[in-house]
Amino acid sequence: MNFDTLVIGAGAAGMMCAAHAGGRVLLVDHAKAPGEKIRISGGGRCNFTNLYCDPHAFISENPHFAKSALARYTQWDFIDLVDRHGIPWHEKTLGQLFCDNSAKDIIGMLRGLLQASGVELHLQTEITDFAKSNETFTFTLNGTNQHTARNTVIATGGKSIPKMGATGFAYDIARQFGHRITATEPALVPFTFPDRRFADISGVSCPARVTANGTSFDEAMLFTHRGLSGPAILQASSYWDAGDRIKVHLAPETDLGATLRDKRTADGKKALTTELARHLPARLVDHLSTQMDLSGRLGDLSDARIDALIHDLTQWQLTPGGTEGYRTAEVTRGGVATEQISSKTMESQTTPGLYFIGEALDVTGWLGGYNFQWAWSSAMATARHLASQ
Ligand code: FAD
Repeated sequence: MNFDTLVIGAGAAGMMCAAHAGGRVLLVDHAKAPGEKIRISGGGRCNFTNLYCDPHAFISENPHFAKSALARYTQWDFIDLVDRHGIPWHEKTLGQLFCDNSAKDIIGMLRGLLQASGVELHLQTEITDFAKSNETFTFTLNGTNQHTARNTVIATGGKSIPKMGATGFAYDIARQFGHRITATEPALVPFTFPDRRFADISGVSCPARVTANGTSFDEAMLFTHRGLSGPAILQASSYWDAGDRIKVHLAPETDLGATLRDKRTADGKKALTTELARHLPARLVDHLSTQMDLSGRLGDLSDARIDALIHDLTQWQLTPGGTEGYRTAEVTRGGVATEQISSKTMESQTTPGLYFIGEALDVTGWLGGYNFQWAWSSAMATARHLASQ
């Protein structure tokens, strides 16, 4: 059969693009159901965009690449779509928008759009023998019957969560057509420490400013059996390279030094650990007291000791042994290099008619709805271009 457009990957980007591309569209996925990552995202409620979405929240070799698509299909456009489908949502924190009910509302909306546009959806289907000859792409589905398409959109995502069907398919196709792949790493992923040094305080969480490679995030940090997690750590992981140290500033919203100096005069008999436990979780203070000297009373603290203590609590240097890897990473940092991709349409400059969208590209968003917004925006950049042909 002859299609106008073949979209490979029925995730967030692929469904959005297929639904808006116009013409005869075939959407193919090897999974049993479309949008599996949407289903499990945001703890089952899908953090589908962020009110403060703008290019600063994206990592790429070319920080300008995402600007055009993000500006032409914004968070407000997606919120409008969600509203028109009567999906209730709320802001949780830091501009992060979640479904009130379930991530399945977003999948249902996208499936409805696919149906309304007459898109043919083939699940549990592999694309085989993919090639371009003259002006058309040729391919077989599960190794049988050859089909053609004038355009092909690669929307097969990155490498995170292989258990859910993630593959390096986009990178293989990109290489086949002469594109470079940037270094890929698990991102938005917990850190591990081989000595399991935080196992005794696993489950403890506290506000922290975590810095990796000069970029800092003020959010919650969680101690785990295997290391560190929580939003501040996941965010920092996207900037971390193996062997790097991270810096942790505990209680970033409190001036601990000033507090200890005030309390030294006003409440000198109080134990230092008791005062610290007013600003940090008590179990963390117990843990820290096995690593540093937290003995004595406030009245006995010298200025030099307060300074040294504040230095240790605000510039805590840690070198993770590694990360939990693609098994739990929310996204892949890196991907198809953007230098030979049009930032307006996502079309390949080596191969007219071939497009890459979503996480497959070297564009990685922060935690907080930014990755889905990139999926929607990049998908619409391609879809509008195809629809105008
Ligand atoms: P995907 O959604 O990964 O879709 C790719 C599709 O391609 C899949 O359906 C896959 O089955 C299919 N595929 C892969 N290889 C092949 C092949 N060879 N042949 C056929 N089909 C193939 N982001 C947010 O913004 N907010 C969140 O709340 C959020 N929560 C997340 C929670 C978890 C646990 C995870 C893992 C990720 C989360 N993300 C979140 C990130 C977000 O899910 C991704 O960035 C987004 O799904 C990327 O969309 P995509 O369409 O590019 O790729």
